[in-house]
Amino acid sequence: MFIELESLFNGGIDSIPVNYDFDYSKEEISGVFPFTTPVKLKGEIRNTAGLVTVSATITFTMDIVCDRCAEKAVLSFEVPMQHGLVSELNDEENDDYILIEDMKLDIEQLTLEDIYLALPGKLLCKEDCKGVCPQCGANLNEGPCSCKKEIDPRFEALLDLLGD
Ligand SMILES: [Zn+2]
Ligand SMILES: [Zn+2]
Repeated sequence: MFIELESLFNGGIDSIPVNYDFDYSKEEISGVFPFTTPVKLKGEIRNTAGLVTVSATITFTMDIVCDRCAEKAVLSFEVPMQHGLVSELNDEENDDYILIEDMKLDIEQLTLEDIYLALPGKLLCKEDCKGVCPQCGANLNEGPCSCKKEIDPRFEALLDLLGD
């Protein structure tokens, strides 16, 4: 999905509305395809006194398998998209700006990149997911299991010191 930006860069128009649904259902993350529903992008690309910026909000859900407890979960995200766009690079390298080649912006690709940058390193069913017991495999979010906590005797003395 490309947006033609020539008339925006040359001042013919002030802004271009951005309102898209993208289908990323073929995007694979660690063996699953989490984008089961369309990803929404809403905002605008604006030329303010020669400075072209895209500002929009990416709204989406992901069907994930929790990295900690392996249960399925649906997570909702709202990620801001904010970039300066330039049609040619000046001397200084600047990561804040995106170089637009041929006056065309691949907004679908940019949205996906912004999503990947915004995702946390671990996808958890909830922030405080307790995970599974390393001994019996029980899901500790559903309550404690009946395993005895095995404590290394060398640590017991230390725990006594730290106790109370
Ligand atoms: Zn979990
Ligand atoms: Zn257990």
